[in-house]
Amino acid sequence: MRVLIVEDDADIQRLLATALASAGYAVDTASDGEDGHHLGATESYDAVILDLGLPQIDGISILERWRKEGITVPVLILTARDSWTEKVKGLRAGADDYVAKPFQMEEVIARIEALIRRAHGIASAVLNVGPLTLDTTQNMVFRDGNPIIMTPLEYRLAAYLMMRRGAVISKTEITEHIYDQNFDRDSNVVEVLINRLRKKLGTDAIETRRGQGYVLAL
Ligand code: CA
Repeated sequence: MRVLIVEDDADIQRLLATALASAGYAVDTASDGEDGHHLGATESYDAVILDLGLPQIDGISILERWRKEGITVPVLILTARDSWTEKVKGLRAGADDYVAKPFQMEEVIARIEALIRRAHGIASAVLNVGPLTLDTTQNMVFRDGNPIIMTPLEYRLAAYLMMRRGAVISKTEITEHIYDQNFDRDSNVVEVLINRLRKKLGTDAIETRRGQGYVLAL
C-alpha cells in the first residue's frame, strides 16, 4: 500500500512519513500544492493525507481538481482544530475523512487503514482469505493461525494481494502500489519478491497468469 502526504510543515510531514513507513506503507511526500496535485494526478496511491493550508494551490482546490479529473483515491484532510466550516468544505470537495490538528499519530494511521480497507470493500481490520489472515492492526499475516515472518516489503505485497483477492494484478500495478516514487523500478524485482512470498504463504497461494500478472487464488 502506498500513501501520499501533502504537507508544507516540514516537522509534521516528517513525523507522518516516519509513522506511516513504520506502519508498513510506501510513502511519497509533497511540500506544496502544485507538487502535491501533480503527484496525486500522475502516480497511483492507495490513500492521500492532504493538509488544507498549502503554498501555491490550497488543499480544497487540489481536492476539487482531482475529483474533477476522475481521481477517486481516498483522501484524509488535516484541518484546523475547531474549524467546522473547513471540515464541511473539505468533505463537500470530495474528502473521505478528516483529522483536526494537533492530532495523535495513531489516530491518523487508524483512519488511513480504515479508508484503504473501505476502498477495497473490507469492513473489519482482520481479513480472512482461505487459510490466510491479514491483521492490519499488527501488520501481520497468518496461515492457519500461525504467524508468517516477513520483511516490510513482503508484508506490503501480501497485504495488497489479499485486499485485491481474486483480481489479476499486473506487475506494473504491483510496482506502483508497493514502492515509493524514488525506488528503482525493475519488473524482475517483482518476480523475485513474488517467489519469496510463495515460499512463505504456500506455493498454492499466488497463481501466475501468463502475460497478465498474478492472482491470489485461495
Ligand atoms: Ca499547512
